[in-house]
Amino acid sequence: MSQPKSAGNCPFCKKSLAKRAMSRHLETHLAKMPPAAGKQAYHLRIEAGPYFLHVLMNATSSLTVLDSFLRKIWLECCGHLSQFAQGGAWGSEVGKSRKANAIFAKGVKLNYVYDFGSSTELKIQVMGEHSLSAKGIQLLTRNEPLELLCHGCEKEPAESICSVHWGDPGGWFFCEDCSEEHEAVCPDAEDYAWMPIVNSPRMGVCGYDGGSIDTERDGVFKVNS
Ligand SMILES: [Zn+2]
Ligand SMILES: [Zn+2]
Ligand SMILES: [Zn+2]
Ligand SMILES: [Zn+2]
Repeated sequence: MSQPKSAGNCPFCKKSLAKRAMSRHLETHLAKMPPAAGKQAYHLRIEAGPYFLHVLMNATSSLTVLDSFLRKIWLECCGHLSQFAQGGAWGSEVGKSRKANAIFAKGVKLNYVYDFGSSTELKIQVMGEHSLSAKGIQLLTRNEPLELLCHGCEKEPAESICSVHWGDPGGWFFCEDCSEEHEAVCPDAEDYAWMPIVNSPRMGVCGYDGGSIDTERDGVFKVNS
C-alpha cells in the first residue's frame, strides 16, 4: 500500500512525465510559443500529494474563476465554503474578487481550502508568466489516474472504496469481484458506504463522487496490456 507514482502527459508533445519534471517541461514549451500582443497569462501548478493540475490563467481573471474551476475538476460535493490564503492553508485570507495580475508573479505561492469541516487543502504556485492569451482558466495537464490496486486481490485496479473501512488493515480499495466478497462481511458497504475511485484529492471525502469537467481522466486507471 505504498504511494503510487504520479505522472501526466504533456499536452504539446504528448510525452509522459513524472510529477516533478512536469513544471519545467511545460515552461520550455510555453516560452517558445509566439507571444500574443497585450495578453498575459500565468502558468499555475496546483497540487495535493500525488495529485496535480497545470493551468494557464488569464491575468485579468479573478480568484472566483479559479475557485469555480477547482470545484468542477476536483472538489465540489455539496457546496462547502472555500478560501484562498497566503502563508499556509489557514494563513491570511486572499479575497476571491482579486485578479490574477494583482497577486501573481513567478514563484508566488497560495494555499486553498475547500470545506472547513472535512477539508481538502491545495497548494498553488506560479511557475511562469507569459505573454499568451488564455480563456479564463485553461487546463494544460493533470496527473493520469493513479495506479491504485485492489487491496483484496492486489492485482486488479480498484474501482470502489469502502468508506467505513478506510485505513483498516483488511483494506478499503476493491475491484469489482472483491467488492462482492467485501459486502458479505460489511453490510454497511452495500447500504451506504461505497464510494467511487476518482482522480482527485477529495476521493472518498464527504459525498464527493467525481468532477464535472475533464471526466475522461477522472476514473480508474487502465491496465496497459
Ligand atoms: Zn512536451
Ligand atoms: Zn460535502
Ligand atoms: Zn480485487
Ligand atoms: Zn467495509
